[in-house]
Amino acid sequence: MKKTLFLLLFFAYSSFAQNTDSLQIRKIYDEILTNGECYKTLTHLCKNIGPRLSGSAGAAKAVEYTKKVMEDYGFEKVFLQDVMVPHWVRGAKEEAYIENGKTKTKVPVVALGGSVATPLAGIKAEVIEVRTFEELKALGEAKVKGKIVLFNRPMDPTKINTFEAYAGAVGQRGNGASEAAKYGAVGAIVRSMTTLQDDIPHTGGMRYAPGIPMIPTAAISTNGANLLSKLLKENPKLKFYFKQNCETLPDAPSHNVIGEIRGTEKPDEIIVIGGHLDSWDLAEGAQDDGSGCVQAIEVLRAMKALGIKPKRTIRAVMFMNEENGLRGGTKYADLAKQNNEKHIAAIESDNGGFTPRGFGMVGTSEQISKVTVYKNLLAPYGLAEIGRGSGGADIGPLGNLGTLLIGFKPDSQRYFDFHHAKNDNLEAVNERELQLGAASMAALVYLIDKYGL
Ligand SMILES: [Zn+2]
Repeated sequence: MKKTLFLLLFFAYSSFAQNTDSLQIRKIYDEILTNGECYKTLTHLCKNIGPRLSGSAGAAKAVEYTKKVMEDYGFEKVFLQDVMVPHWVRGAKEEAYIENGKTKTKVPVVALGGSVATPLAGIKAEVIEVRTFEELKALGEAKVKGKIVLFNRPMDPTKINTFEAYAGAVGQRGNGASEAAKYGAVGAIVRSMTTLQDDIPHTGGMRYAPGIPMIPTAAISTNGANLLSKLLKENPKLKFYFKQNCETLPDAPSHNVIGEIRGTEKPDEIIVIGGHLDSWDLAEGAQDDGSGCVQAIEVLRAMKALGIKPKRTIRAVMFMNEENGLRGGTKYADLAKQNNEKHIAAIESDNGGFTPRGFGMVGTSEQISKVTVYKNLLAPYGLAEIGRGSGGADIGPLGNLGTLLIGFKPDSQRYFDFHHAKNDNLEAVNERELQLGAASMAALVYLIDKYGL
């Protein structure tokens, strides 16, 4: 009898709590959808500052700007963390053409981040096309030496989540140059990581494997890759020319930017919401990842505007150097460890500012189940996909400290239309979608803060 009474009370309480929570979440969405300022912040970041590759003047300005925005909002503590970052510069615009007999056809290419330059006169050589590293290996030095390798495996269009398609193709960009150089290639040209067929090349990070000659590597637009592939079938002896002028300068000083609201009951437990402040140099970095940064700031702004006094410390973190080094994310976790900080959860928004679909998590089953119980509360806002998944590059290193990593998951269909390309500008972002993303994270932060993990 006693037990029944207890259960009755328990259910009465939990439905009361759910009701309170659903009202508070409604208020969070109303605040952000009515008075949201993240698009305004993004507009400044894109139009007044622009590209923010690590070590650039734009990145330094973005540090100052986001710091000031958070100070102006009156967040309790706003501070910088020093971090040394790689400093790669593109130099003059790249040139490329296909030389097929007497016909020269220009094609759009961009150097990959971290690549070396070509010689001043450029490189001209015959081309060998492959789709996989296995194919390259099978061809071996006999077929590859002295040539330019075209890595032409497309992102798999049948994958519904485009990030899966990206993961299946991006190895060509990251490691293609060194794989090709192993067999004596003189250059590597990589099909752009996009689901579109168009004339816009997409850059991105690449790494040279130690002990292997460093050959120049560039991305070619998907139309350019298709044309080159078609012409190669007709004339395997055609030549490809490209010239790029990029350079790696000495590491440069930079910063992570952090704003926090201190917890009232458990200030030592920290919840992070973050994005990365650096962007590729070809555009304004609106989707990647200006959106994530301004959403993180918006979460704290909305909590403050609504008078929510969190029990735990809530931090908005703008990580530096995700794109070509991850130094900011690594430094943040190193300092968290050094300072004995307890980060219970970290949420990253680095998949674009599109319509929210849910959250993917990396952590123990127990941690994850404590978040999946909120499904009912979040489903009315389109957040249906909540469960095990992937977190985010910048928050990744916090995983070693036992932090639950949470990746914000917006709709993925259009992300690779813009990713790392010259069209990743403010115009690619829809204000309402951006706000919905911020509200999704604010709602989740509210619940995690209230009930802990
Ligand atoms: Zn990104």
